[in-house]
Amino acid sequence: MAKVANQPLCDVCGNKQVKNGKTSAGRTLWRCKNCGASSTISCPDITAKAQFESFHQWATGKLSVKETGTARSTFFRNTNWCWNLRPRLEATGEKHRYLMLDGTYFNGFCALTAYNGEHIT
Ligand SMILES: [Zn+2]
Repeated sequence: MAKVANQPLCDVCGNKQVKNGKTSAGRTLWRCKNCGASSTISCPDITAKAQFESFHQWATGKLSVKETGTARSTFFRNTNWCWNLRPRLEATGEKHRYLMLDGTYFNGFCALTAYNGEHIT
């Protein structure tokens, strides 16, 4: 696969490629002037961002997979990696001697409360 850049390099000979129109799907087609090989490039960061936003919208919203506009099997295949993400919490630097937690179930949701001796959150 070609390196993702403004002007990708040819997979065959390594020379710079030039734009050569678009595919029927609308993606930019790149062509090597040296050897004539053509290719398309994808930007994995943009794809992953779109997949995660779709996953997040589905996981935290009320839309079903069908209502997201993506086939069910495609949605779960594309967003399966999102289940393995671990949220990173930054340390606030606050230290408390006590922390009391409690949860109350209401209409299928659980409301969590935390008390650190001074504040309830
Ligand atoms: Zn080439």
